[in-house]
Amino acid sequence: MFKYRGYAGKYLRADLTRGTTTPFDLEAGRCEKWLGGNGWGAEILFSEVPVATDPLAPANKIIFATGPINGTLMPNSGRLECISKSPLTGIYGDSNAGGFFAPEMKFAGWDMFIIEGRADHPVYLMIEDDRVEIRDARHLWGKDTIETEHLIQAENGDDQIKVACIGPAGENQVRFACIQVTPQRSLGRGGLGAVMGSKNLKAIAVRGHGTVPIAQPERFYDIAVKCHEGIRANAIYPAVSRYGTPGIVSLMNKIGRFPTRNFQSGHYEKADNINAETLREGYFVKDIACYACPIACDKIYRVREGEFAGTTVRSFEYETLGGYGASIDNDDLPSIMKATDRTDRLGMDVISAGRAISFAYELWEKGILTSEDTDGLDLTWGNYHSMLELIEKIARRDGFGATLAEGVRRAAAIIGKGSDYYAMHVKGQEIAAQDGRAQQSMGLAHATSNRGADHLKAFPTIDETGYPDEARRRYGERYLPEIADPHANKHKAFLVKDGEELGAVVDSSGNCKSGGTFVLAQIYWDEMAEAISAATGMEVDAAALKRIGERIYNLQRAYNVLHGISRLDDTLPKRLLTEPSPSMSAKGQVCRLEPMLAEYYELRGWDESGCPSEAKLLELGLEDAASRLKAAGKFASARRE
Ligand code: SF4
Repeated sequence: MFKYRGYAGKYLRADLTRGTTTPFDLEAGRCEKWLGGNGWGAEILFSEVPVATDPLAPANKIIFATGPINGTLMPNSGRLECISKSPLTGIYGDSNAGGFFAPEMKFAGWDMFIIEGRADHPVYLMIEDDRVEIRDARHLWGKDTIETEHLIQAENGDDQIKVACIGPAGENQVRFACIQVTPQRSLGRGGLGAVMGSKNLKAIAVRGHGTVPIAQPERFYDIAVKCHEGIRANAIYPAVSRYGTPGIVSLMNKIGRFPTRNFQSGHYEKADNINAETLREGYFVKDIACYACPIACDKIYRVREGEFAGTTVRSFEYETLGGYGASIDNDDLPSIMKATDRTDRLGMDVISAGRAISFAYELWEKGILTSEDTDGLDLTWGNYHSMLELIEKIARRDGFGATLAEGVRRAAAIIGKGSDYYAMHVKGQEIAAQDGRAQQSMGLAHATSNRGADHLKAFPTIDETGYPDEARRRYGERYLPEIADPHANKHKAFLVKDGEELGAVVDSSGNCKSGGTFVLAQIYWDEMAEAISAATGMEVDAAALKRIGERIYNLQRAYNVLHGISRLDDTLPKRLLTEPSPSMSAKGQVCRLEPMLAEYYELRGWDESGCPSEAKLLELGLEDAASRLKAAGKFASARRE
């Protein structure tokens, strides 16, 4: 039996080139040093995927990993972590999804799948408890993600099989292709679906019949109940549960943080037509929850009449309403639902797809693109028929769609004519519907995220709309009032660093950041430490977990530094740094990144170029990273010589 409970105790390597699958015993040291999901993936990528590796080459690896909390009674304990070198950014990449796949991995007796090589024809992995097979998937190639899931369940006669699969976009290696996970949750960011496509891996299907062992069941039950009760008692729980993430449309619109017409503004004048109340009133069918989640932020919505009648969507989020709504000046909800359904079925990240489309619409407005460039499509703001057409063309790399399928950074390089100014990305990854001019910490979070533009790594919520009580509860008086002020710069480096490290730990534990940790703020360092200790029997306190989070974040950064990432890349599109927001309470604000970045590097123990110092890496037990950075001449001392 494995030393620590909470884990299944073994992982799988599947070499698709050789057609082999090999089980390995999980190493106790791997758990002590990296905890799980996010940490394991970072460590494997760093040590096994060399810097020169093309993300779409067989030498890249893709890792599906759980954590010690997955599949337990802890609230929101169904999250799956996926790590690979990103075809979108060319650096460290990861993505995280809810649903039921990760708990099913644990029930089948697996903590992690490491996929290597490339099959010579489409295949899928079928895993039922100890039995692992690489199966022919030629009959699934070309199918959309929902068809693929249902076909795999049907041909195995078991509708409880959980599936992680790609759609046509992943097969066509669209650089922001996603992986869809039962039931229609997304490993959205970073183009990891394209990595699966490059390996001819259509899907991984898993079914398990076991349970997750718990070291101290009564102690674990107590902390799980405390967190459940805390979530339900939180003042905003009823709204979060009733509306899910669309509930913040009106809130973000009010503070000028809801990107409109490709970030020209942060306030959408027609937002009432696409806000949560309108959505609920006209289209709601039922609430859906991920594994063990008391929040159920997911919903099913249906269009009942009109051009898109019959369209049914789930995982319909704030980001979708931003990307396919405000960002292209489209207040037609049924068309946004149709666009979301098509994007999910084709297997693309809605954030990147929406941003690529709004980029093209702005280039049309500015006269940089004409119908000769767009295969005859009219990209006038609000034209949702062209939006729907573009989604299909991107997924199939058809005509102008092939340019947008490269992501906005590469698309701008192809289009030229000054179009790069309108490409809203950081390190090649498109920015979500979060305007860093209206919330300074969000600007910093986008700039420093190890996977390129991202609102979920640091997940700053304390200063979204001012949240002083939560700030006081978490940090005491020390950082108030600035930490809860969205327009202040002071202490935002601390907020972002703390969030990045907590996020790395939560993503390594198998829990959901959106649920109890950041939005409802009930699971912080102490609660996480208590849950992990009781589940595993590996006693960790908040300080030990913080160290794990810091170690993970520094290793990811070291990997990126080896890829040439530096302070020059920790930035934002010029628009957010120089064009004052015209919107609401953010009016006149730009993101004042530089002072926050300087404070952030200092807190992290990184030099002024953004490279972790040798002392910091050694302090965190990252000797290998220290020696590789030294050999590559990345430390400040070497640069001065
Ligand atoms: S809060 Fe939402 S995303 Fe998180 S586990 Fe619950 S239903 Fe899933």
